[in-house]
Amino acid sequence: MGARGTVNCDVLVIGAGPGGLAAAKGAREAGARRVIVLERDACPGGILNQCIHDGFGLIRYKEQLTGPEYAVRAEREATEAGAKIMTGHQVVRMERMAAGEGIEVTAVSASGLKTFRAGAVVLALGCRERTRGAISIPGSRPAGVFTAGVIQNFVNIRNVMPGHRVVILGSGDVGMIMARRLTLEGAKVQVVAEILPEPAGLARNVSQCLYDYGIPILCSHTVSRIIGRRKIEAVEISEVDQNMRPVPGTEQRFDCDALVLSVGLIPENEIAQTAGVTLDPKTNGTLTDEYLQTDVEGIFSCGNSRRIMDLADFVSEQGELAGRNAVAHLTGEEMETWDESRTTSMLKGYPVPDTVTCTLCPNGCQVRRVADENGTFTYEGNKCPRGIDFAEQERTAPRRMLTTTVRDADGHLIPVRTGQPISREKMFDAMKEMRTFTADCTENIRCGDTLTYVTDKDGSRIRVIATADSR
Ligand SMILES: Cc1cc2nc3c(=O)[nH]c(=O)nc-3n(C[C@H](O)[C@H](O)[C@H](O)COP(=O)(O)OP(=O)(O)OC[C@H]3O[C@@H](n4cnc5c(N)ncnc54)[C@H](O)[C@@H]3O)c2cc1C
Ligand code: SF4
Repeated sequence: MGARGTVNCDVLVIGAGPGGLAAAKGAREAGARRVIVLERDACPGGILNQCIHDGFGLIRYKEQLTGPEYAVRAEREATEAGAKIMTGHQVVRMERMAAGEGIEVTAVSASGLKTFRAGAVVLALGCRERTRGAISIPGSRPAGVFTAGVIQNFVNIRNVMPGHRVVILGSGDVGMIMARRLTLEGAKVQVVAEILPEPAGLARNVSQCLYDYGIPILCSHTVSRIIGRRKIEAVEISEVDQNMRPVPGTEQRFDCDALVLSVGLIPENEIAQTAGVTLDPKTNGTLTDEYLQTDVEGIFSCGNSRRIMDLADFVSEQGELAGRNAVAHLTGEEMETWDESRTTSMLKGYPVPDTVTCTLCPNGCQVRRVADENGTFTYEGNKCPRGIDFAEQERTAPRRMLTTTVRDADGHLIPVRTGQPISREKMFDAMKEMRTFTADCTENIRCGDTLTYVTDKDGSRIRVIATADSR
């Protein structure tokens, strides 16, 4: 504790998502004595806590993890490295003091305003979603229009369904993942409309989130009108021209009781601005040099608050580097450069016909079944033999990891996944089995605990595993 109750530390990290947690780990491992992470939410993990689907961690942990499982690991790594995570602390202001006096950060918590003084700060505040206001859809302003992240929070954390007949605008990964999630929870997703000529997200998500469930996608289309007085009743979807303007006469009406907008993310940077950090006017992300340092000396930035990133794995890698560089800044050692080309190589847009994206490792090979001159089938495009087994399984009997939630006796939701992929055609039956189950919460549930079992196509019982600790 410093003067007048000020808390002093070497490196202060703002935000405990994958970026912030990795920055704290990186700073501690690089030798910083006192590293503090301030997080406004009640628990660390950031956006990952509500991303209960799998698809995380293949690069960083060489395993397919769900968002909460990834968050548990990232939190454990930061605390084991010796960082202190202070949840329930919302940062409201930041200021660079005179030379040698560090950076002052003010946070609000249940016990009032607190001041922190740090040698260096890493910003890892994540992003927020673009809303209807940002894309100006004409029509009335009824209830029932939500962003995808809000819906994800309602369904996966609060156990609230937004509607039963849903239209989704935007085919980024978030929109497609929510289309599958809502379908598994019993909603009918009428259509996904995408203004671009091709789906915006990964081809793998087009096939596993939309095609698997027969959800139609209309590319080069947008919502041109919202219909309904107090509650949404329908939307009009129109084809768009080359300038992305709706073409008159192409309107189709889709009845719905919820419209889900998945139309992009914007870096969260109000706090950066309080310290005079320069933002990129196009993206609202913090501008940094190759060392991830902003134009305010000693303030570093990583993850979605710097630039929207597809994969949590790269966010963690970048956060760790930002944390190490924050320490190098304090000690005068040489800083490391961030390789901007670190991004996913997985195919985006429509899946290639007769081809499957192998999802067993980050290479995401496009594996294709071809006949040779004798009419014998072989596979090509796979960089290793595992791709052949994967593609053959996809062709003959596709299997999927089921990720969902179960209720405990107090009515709280616990994110879960099956212990191994189950037959695709058993997904709805397994969901039904899980709905009748109530988890015993007299003892704390730990990530990895087996909670119940579901039945696969061949009658075998498959474990259902908690993917987060009960809090
Ligand atoms: C729906 C969805 C699906 C995704 N699916 C995948 C996937 O399958 N695989 C994958 O690898 N990646 C996926 N991603 C991407 C990945 O999750 C993100 O890129 C990553 O989580 C971003 O990490 P971050 O640390 O930058 O931000 P966040 O995880 O958003 O963390 C930011 C943290 O900062 C805190 N914060 C903000 N403001 C303040 C403040 N003023 N004071 C204190 N704390 C504050 C927030 O509460 C939050 O905890 C998905 C993202 C979304 C939204
Ligand atoms: S074929 Fe092999 S290298 Fe290619 S994605 Fe699959 S597991 Fe990875």
